[in-house]
Amino acid sequence: MRTRFAPSPTGFLHLGGARTALFNYCLAKHYGGAFLLRIEDTDRERSTEAAKDAILDGLNWLGLMPDEPTVYQSTRAARHAEVAHQLLAQGRAYRCYATPEELEIMREEAKAIGRPVPYDRRWRDVPAKDHPTDRPFVIRLKVPLTGEMTLFDHVQGAVSLRHDHLDDMVLLRADGTPTYMLAVVVDDHDMGITHIMRGDDHLNNAFRQRALFDALDWTMPELYHIPLIHGPDGAKLSKRHGAVAIQEYRDQGIVSEAMINALLRLGWGHGDQEIFSLSEGIAHFDGRHLGRAPSRFDPQKLLFLNAHYLRTLDLFDRLYPLLCSQYSQATERHWSWLRQMLPHLTQRAERLGDVVALCGPYLSRPPKGDAWTPAHAAIVSDVIPVLESLSPDQWTEDGLSQTLKTWAAAQGKKLSDVAMPLRIAMTGSTASPSVFAILSVLGRDEVLARLQ
Ligand code: GLU
Repeated sequence: MRTRFAPSPTGFLHLGGARTALFNYCLAKHYGGAFLLRIEDTDRERSTEAAKDAILDGLNWLGLMPDEPTVYQSTRAARHAEVAHQLLAQGRAYRCYATPEELEIMREEAKAIGRPVPYDRRWRDVPAKDHPTDRPFVIRLKVPLTGEMTLFDHVQGAVSLRHDHLDDMVLLRADGTPTYMLAVVVDDHDMGITHIMRGDDHLNNAFRQRALFDALDWTMPELYHIPLIHGPDGAKLSKRHGAVAIQEYRDQGIVSEAMINALLRLGWGHGDQEIFSLSEGIAHFDGRHLGRAPSRFDPQKLLFLNAHYLRTLDLFDRLYPLLCSQYSQATERHWSWLRQMLPHLTQRAERLGDVVALCGPYLSRPPKGDAWTPAHAAIVSDVIPVLESLSPDQWTEDGLSQTLKTWAAAQGKKLSDVAMPLRIAMTGSTASPSVFAILSVLGRDEVLARLQ
């Protein structure tokens, strides 16, 4: 099993591309095979270095790195040309000298008389001795003229096309450069690709590619043409729905695990399981159970998944780089407080930024903030001796909670009257996780220092 992801570097890596990469990755890994990456950069006009970098960056974020060095299609032009010339020598391809003007007339004519292919194949059977010697030519494939071709696609089922509806496609242009169709077929063959999984907008190409595989006596890889992704409203995914670079989700605080999980569920499923890690995806993704209807991308569901992963992943290593420059004074002790507080800070977070916003009080002493009042100060003065009297083994979340509840009751106060000033003193804010958890994590010395 060898699969590939073959993006054209003409734009960023969007959801559809990322899903194609992920599915190919899972399919290969499920069968212990290899996942390859081919950058289809033959269109020199539209391909850009920035787009290539963005694609690699997106794949890297998702953890979908290829098992072998990336293949750059543009570097293989000589090999593509060699194959076209080989077909020519075998009589399976031919030189066509039609001029652009003639082709234009043929196109008009095809429309007028209902010919299914624009080119009328006029050079197909012209013997070499009658070829001009001083005019540029392209090399075209001789596709069969009768009968029909049937492809067996693992998602679409059997799909057929009459041969006379297939163009004698150009393989090599007059300037000797290969066409996209030739490049794809030669590269898939030379890379040893066994299974092609891609968007169903490529299904038509599959017929033409099959004609070329056949002419070369090569076996076409198995095919999976997966339906495109739609937005939650059922319309084709557009910028409005989030047809944006996959990195934008990262920048919005989506963790890659949530993105992977959401992508896995776009057109594939395993029973009614919703939560999948990448390795669970690999374990179950065997190329079956791929939907034939367009899948719907739901940003709300992505947020739901993200919240799940924020609660369940160890986030520390991801947060550290986001926080360390802002809290350059933070010591080992502070980072350890943060680490202990994380399970509390992630409870209601939907995005990584929601967690980041709560980390400050554990990495530095917060300012008292606007909510602080003299009444708070009075309560804190009374509470200090109570906390000072606690023995180290009472300094736990439960111990603190018990002590302060008992003390509040004895003073005829509500627990919240005591908890709020403590919360503000510890965090500078009126909203925080359990104040007892905070007191217990920060420890006696730090708590008393902040209160004082
Ligand atoms: N380069 C093509 C694209 O980006 C994919 C070709 C293929 O997967 O065969 O749409």
